Amino acid sequence: MKEITSQNFSLIVPEGCQADCDFCVSKSLDDRISPERTEDLDLAKLARAIRFARDAGAIATSISGGGEPTLYMDPGGYVDRALPLLAEHFAKVDLYTNGYRMERVFDQWCITHVTISLPSFTRPELYTGRFNPLETVLSDVSRLVDSGRVVRLSLILCRESDGGSEERILTYLQRALELGVHGVIVREASRYTSNEEWYEQNYLEMAPMRDAVTSRAGFEAILEMPWGTRYFDYRGLRVAFYCAEERQHVGRHVRTLCYFPDQHLYGDFIRRSSIVI
Ligand code: SF4
Repeated sequence: MKEITSQNFSLIVPEGCQADCDFCVSKSLDDRISPERTEDLDLAKLARAIRFARDAGAIATSISGGGEPTLYMDPGGYVDRALPLLAEHFAKVDLYTNGYRMERVFDQWCITHVTISLPSFTRPELYTGRFNPLETVLSDVSRLVDSGRVVRLSLILCRESDGGSEERILTYLQRALELGVHGVIVREASRYTSNEEWYEQNYLEMAPMRDAVTSRAGFEAILEMPWGTRYFDYRGLRVAFYCAEERQHVGRHVRTLCYFPDQHLYGDFIRRSSIVI
């Protein structure tokens, strides 16, 4: 176990989200993220996991689901309690959110990076009953950019979102540029979603779409991670393409160490058997 190296430590928050997305992977996971464990955050165990990750080389942390992190940012909530410890050990703290309760985020200055799910610039109906209205999300994104944070948008590659075709992805990137964000992550839908019917109807394969999009003018390949994620520069925007079936570790290098609400550290978000400590 001491052989593991990783650059990132992820705090996985408990299950629970207002959005109920069809492509959500968390809903198909096991009791590692069950909501009844919310009050169980043991700061001593979290500190031990952070020490392990730091010894393994982690220099950044992300806070993601499980569920929607902003639901756990009230005073005394899961994320609120963990934040001081995370900020003490990591200069980069990246919050992954669907943009729901952003008022909980603006004053948390230890959050240096924010990654926001934004399925479409052009279809406000996709937001109805799930996310904040599109205009609210866009206004919050601008506010975060103006606050000096590093802001990225997260787009699921699927037929119903702006990831549904090459042209729609390019339009999305253009709108992201106009908004002033730093980057976009394009994600392939995972077969681990709990809604198999949705997956069958909406899945699009990442590699051909990525290759078609990035062969257009304006793209420059800048980085490929050991597990396959490719990064491109697009007119100053950093664009990452995450394939769902990418490996979670290569040799002894783990993509991210995940601390779950069951108070164990895992080397893989999906596989329960990947427990580290
Ligand atoms: S916003 Fe994220 S955590 Fe919430 S349901 Fe959608 S995919 Fe799952």
